Amino acid sequence: MALTTGWSAGAQPYQKLHAKAIVVDTHNDVLSSATLKGMDIGTDLTGKTHTDLARLRKGGVDVQVFSIFCDEHFGVGSAFREANREIDSLYAIAARNPDKMQIVTNSTGLAQAVRSHKLAAMMGVEGGHMIEDNMDYLDSLYRRGVRYMTLTWNNSTPWATSALDETTRAFNATPYGLTEKGKAIVRRMNELGMLVDLSHVGEQTFWDAIHTVNRPVICSHSSVYTICPVFRNLKDDQIKAVGANGGVIQVNFYSGFLDSNYLPRMTRFLLRHKPEMDSMATAKMPGYAINETLSKKYPQEADSLRAPLSLLIDHIDYIVRMIGPDHVGLGSDFDGIESPPQQLDDVTTYPLITRELLKRGYKPADIEKILGGNFIRVLKANEATAR
Ligand SMILES: [Zn+2]
Repeated sequence: MALTTGWSAGAQPYQKLHAKAIVVDTHNDVLSSATLKGMDIGTDLTGKTHTDLARLRKGGVDVQVFSIFCDEHFGVGSAFREANREIDSLYAIAARNPDKMQIVTNSTGLAQAVRSHKLAAMMGVEGGHMIEDNMDYLDSLYRRGVRYMTLTWNNSTPWATSALDETTRAFNATPYGLTEKGKAIVRRMNELGMLVDLSHVGEQTFWDAIHTVNRPVICSHSSVYTICPVFRNLKDDQIKAVGANGGVIQVNFYSGFLDSNYLPRMTRFLLRHKPEMDSMATAKMPGYAINETLSKKYPQEADSLRAPLSLLIDHIDYIVRMIGPDHVGLGSDFDGIESPPQQLDDVTTYPLITRELLKRGYKPADIEKILGGNFIRVLKANEATAR
């Protein structure tokens, strides 16, 4: 939290640094996972969600990008409407809490909200399917305040293939990557000043997009493949390409994307509860929802599956060693993941990341870049005033 007051003289150096920094998180799923189910982040949701406004403040978060998300069951005729419902819900939350938060759409608004000690709330669409192949819908989402879009979620669109599909043997779309329409959408995003988000996209889509953009990209919630080889983490050549593009990789906190031993642990956990898992699968519950339900039902077991906090720092450190401290940040995925690292129980815990980076010998100026400065630089570079 960028406050210069409010800390007692006894505050630890990491707390002072965290308080001074502008802390940005670029991916939080609370709108789709809780708000639409009737939970109000203006109230205390401790124990129910990772996120509410009071806890974001406690965690020193200055800027939160809220994910506008629906899965592939929403398609033409419903996905865009669902996006707008979530956007409506964020505007409603902001209207009820004018003293605590403010929706911002550019770096000037962001700075102004931070100065007035309010959470700067931004919006990013997770999944190109939410524009339903309609360029007008893209423009409409931009006008409503959306400032990034992942070209795909786990599902491909007719114009871009996803990481999940590109790595699934049974999937045989031609062509892989971005079609001409996909490239036109990317160019339109650059024109508008909507950040091109390459989290979730397949490798071919990644390369096609990075060769199409004329602005820095983001990966709003992605981690490192070499440390944890899962389908949608970033390989070394992709990390280098984001560095060369001037973009930023916002590291995802999900234990399964951080820790290569998580999946075997999770598999053993699921097998212990196989009858319940099977009945949910029969009821056509998606895999991520089954994991979440079982994790909530058996919290102690789920707790023992979590990655160590040090591993999250390892992912940040890996990117810094490869391309320097100007291209990495935080994209927690809180309220979209059932298993954050140990100690990072919810959005109050961001100061622990600052503490760990200091412990590893990071310079305060570099920590401030990682906590938020890098994202703000990329946001500015994408704004219409920047051209
Ligand atoms: Zn995601």
